[in-house]
Amino acid sequence: MTPVIARAAALTSLERLCVHTITTKPWSIEQAAEAYARAGVAGITVWREALADRDEVQMGELLRSHGLSIVSLCRGGFFTYRDEAGRRSALSDNRRALDQAAALGAPLVVLVCGALPGQSLAASRAQIRAGIEALLPHAEAHRVRLAIEPLHPMYADSRSAINTLAQANDLAEAIGSDWVGVAIDVYHVWWDPALQSEIERCGKSGKLFAFHVCDWKTPTKDLLLDRGLPGEGCIDIRQIRAWVEATGFRGPIEVEIFSEAYWAGDQAELLERVTQSYLSHV
Ligand code: ZN
Repeated sequence: MTPVIARAAALTSLERLCVHTITTKPWSIEQAAEAYARAGVAGITVWREALADRDEVQMGELLRSHGLSIVSLCRGGFFTYRDEAGRRSALSDNRRALDQAAALGAPLVVLVCGALPGQSLAASRAQIRAGIEALLPHAEAHRVRLAIEPLHPMYADSRSAINTLAQANDLAEAIGSDWVGVAIDVYHVWWDPALQSEIERCGKSGKLFAFHVCDWKTPTKDLLLDRGLPGEGCIDIRQIRAWVEATGFRGPIEVEIFSEAYWAGDQAELLERVTQSYLSHV
C-alpha cells in the first residue's frame, strides 16, 4: 500500500513557474519573452512554431537576456510511419528538433510519440521505441534529454500510442538511457487510477523530467483546443503536485494551455490569469 501524501501547500511565488509559448500563441516569441519577464515568470518552454524564420542561437540569447530560464523545446516525436520515406522523414525532423534545442540552449525536447489511424497500436509502439533509440546518439551528442509525454487515450488514433504514465515509464525503462525520461502533463493523466504509484516510479528513478499543468473543463468543447486555466476544471492539480514533489522533484511547473477561446482574447489579460491561477490552484 502506498502511503497517503498530504496535499502540497499553495505556491507563494512564481519562481518555479514556466509558461509555454503556445499558451499565448498570438504573441511572437519576442513579445512573449518581454511579457513573461515583466510578469515575473521564471521559465519558458518554446514551441517550435515560435521559432519559425528565426535564428535559434539569437533567440536563446534573447530569452536569457530577459532572465528567463529555457526549460524545454516542444515538440519532437511523431515517430510512426507507413513506409521507409516516412520513417526517414520522422527521424530527420527529430534530429532537427534536437539541433534547434541545442542551439537555443534548451536541455530537453518533449516527445508526442505519434499514432496512425489504421495501424495497430502495437505496431506504432514498436516504431516509437525504435525511433527514440535511433535518436539517442544525436541527443547524447547535443546533451539534450528526451521526455516521453503520455497522451490521454482520446488521442490514441492519431497523436500518440503511449497513453498512460505506466506505458511511458515502461518505455523509458526499456530504452534504459539517462537521456530518456517522461513528461507528466496533468491533462493527459489525471484520470489514471495508477497515477500516484507511477509518479513515484519515475520520480524515484530520476526519470521525471517535466511537469505540465492546466485544467480539464466540463464540458470540454474541443478535444485539443479547449484546455482550461488551473482551477477552471476538475483536475486536482495540487494533489498531483504533492505526489510529484513527494519524489523529490523541485523542477519547473509548466503552464501549457491550448485554447481557441483564450487565443481569441487579450493575451496580457490571459497571462495575468495564468499567474493568478498558478498561485491559487497549483
Ligand atoms: Zn504537455
